[in-house]
Amino acid sequence: MDIKIYILSSGKYSSRIVNNMAKMGFAENMVGIHEVDEDLPEFIDNVEEHIPQNLPEADLILAMGLFGDINMIIPAVTEKTGAKSIIVPIYHPKQIPLGLQKEIEEEVEGKTIIFPKPFCTLKPVDDPYIDAFAKVFGKPELEIQSNGIIKKINVKRGAPCGSTWFVAEKLESTPVDGAEMEAGSRYHNYPCLASMSVDNQIGDTLLHIAGYKIKEAVKMELGFAAKSAVVNDDICQGGESCGHECRDTCPTVKIGDNTIIIKENGKAEVNPETCGNCGICIQKCPSGAIEIEDRVKIREKSINNIKS
Ligand code: SF4
Ligand code: SF4
Repeated sequence: MDIKIYILSSGKYSSRIVNNMAKMGFAENMVGIHEVDEDLPEFIDNVEEHIPQNLPEADLILAMGLFGDINMIIPAVTEKTGAKSIIVPIYHPKQIPLGLQKEIEEEVEGKTIIFPKPFCTLKPVDDPYIDAFAKVFGKPELEIQSNGIIKKINVKRGAPCGSTWFVAEKLESTPVDGAEMEAGSRYHNYPCLASMSVDNQIGDTLLHIAGYKIKEAVKMELGFAAKSAVVNDDICQGGESCGHECRDTCPTVKIGDNTIIIKENGKAEVNPETCGNCGICIQKCPSGAIEIEDRVKIREKSINNIKS
């Protein structure tokens, strides 16, 4: 799809994404980039004077790395470019307070606006422009060929910063058993520019969430989690005796994953695909019903084996 993307960019976080988009063949889709000074104060009296002039027509606005009030230029830029869709990735817990997010949403009413937190949690949202972008960039998805050793990895969708392509290249020739943990450490070598501060809405850092997503992509293909929280059904008191603290404090549940589900009998169950192995549920469960187990199976048929 031939989408026209206009970019509001500030700082290293954003330039890395712009560079990766160009590398992945999106240079011609970027119809303009406006650099926003990263030293602007968080609170700005007159936001209008920062609105870029002579804006081109665009379908999709990417507003990346802008911190605080300067994000209020997004509605005017959307209006002037005629864009229908907007992505505002969040890489730091203090980047856009919820009140400001709501204000922006109200100002662009009728357009699709999303705030993926962090950017590598982006999935299609039933919007033609965002979904065209999310075909290539967003929550990592891989295709792995292996015969005990990883032979080949195809990145179906990668983190916009480029980390997924970096990790995929490094994983080739890695034994399947260690691949998930290796993906986690390779991802930390990139390094990810998401914040290391705990996000109070999620209860974990955005850097960790991004790490869970690349490991999830590996697990999905290999069919097992190297480590996952597991609920002991005999000990779980779920139902009337427990308020399901495990589910209510799990960071991946808070970003919209079904990591902890409550079964009909009221007891909890962990989905190893999306469990980030953070251990928070273990600390919060009042009954001590959860522990981390090794090599937890995800699904019947695991690897797309190559006959060697
Ligand atoms: S917090 Fe513990 S006891 Fe309660 S539902 Fe979760 S696993 Fe079960
Ligand atoms: S260890 Fe527990 S809290 Fe952490 S991601 Fe897994 S299920 Fe959620």
